[in-house]
Amino acid sequence: MLKGKTAIVTGSTSGIGLGIASALAAEGCAVMLNGFGEANAIEALRSKLANEHGVSVAYSPANMAKPQEIRDLVADTLRRLGSVDILVNNAGIQHVDKVADFPEERWDAVIAINMSAAFHATKAALPSMLDKKWGRIINIASAHGLVASAEKCAYVTAKHGIVGLTKVVAIETANVGVTCNAICPGWVLTPLVQKQIEARADAENIPVKQARNDLLREKQPMLDFSTPEQIAALAVFLCGEAARTITGAALSIDGGWVAQ
Ligand code: NAD
Repeated sequence: MLKGKTAIVTGSTSGIGLGIASALAAEGCAVMLNGFGEANAIEALRSKLANEHGVSVAYSPANMAKPQEIRDLVADTLRRLGSVDILVNNAGIQHVDKVADFPEERWDAVIAINMSAAFHATKAALPSMLDKKWGRIINIASAHGLVASAEKCAYVTAKHGIVGLTKVVAIETANVGVTCNAICPGWVLTPLVQKQIEARADAENIPVKQARNDLLREKQPMLDFSTPEQIAALAVFLCGEAARTITGAALSIDGGWVAQ
């Protein structure tokens, strides 16, 4: 379905981003991977995706906290893969603390990586999309882009911000063949969430399994995790012709989290 297109997926060495990069490659899309990790493991992943799906797959270690590296990531993709048709702003981190105790440095990092990076990448990638009169920008927000939880001030602020950015970009690009949408997942069992489960088990002195169940029960009527593959299937759908007029939307995939 996406043969001939090129995608950048930020933060695609793990979790949801990896799921999205794999699904786009399976649709015939060339992919620029990005994110941190062990060099050999990333190269194994890159070559596996390329060989399995017969598409070009490149990798950039650009740090999404650094605007110049984000601009270089887009320039590098244009140079190596020819265009940027699909941009998935996915890289994200979490920090959990009460506002009064929240370290300033963690606030700055979460805002930079989870929110400002999407602005810098969108600004850099849009000209290529406008040239081709086709583009898809998908921002991985969160249920926390729509509602709040205690002890996540930077994350909730960043995710609400990225939903706002999504709407502005959608309005500005409404008649030029580009769409911009946000996906708002509930709990997805990735390393980012596993860390929170283990911290909770430690803090409450309970088994990890119980901490995992408590985490779900606290927020989601549906007591089950979404998978990276399910988030990826929604992203692929947003790239398709059936989704041509979906823009500026914040699409929940969250087991009923924000229905309450
Ligand atoms: P993850 O920790 O599994 O993956 C995060 C990815 O981002 C990794 O590839 C990591 O290397 C990369 N990354 C982190 N900092 C980076 C930086 N400075 N520059 C470049 N890459 C960087 O996490 P995940 O759960 O897959 O999260 C992906 C996105 O989905 C995040 O934006 C997160 O907020 C969002 N999200 C996750 C959940 C969930 O339940 N897991 C729910 C809602 C939204």
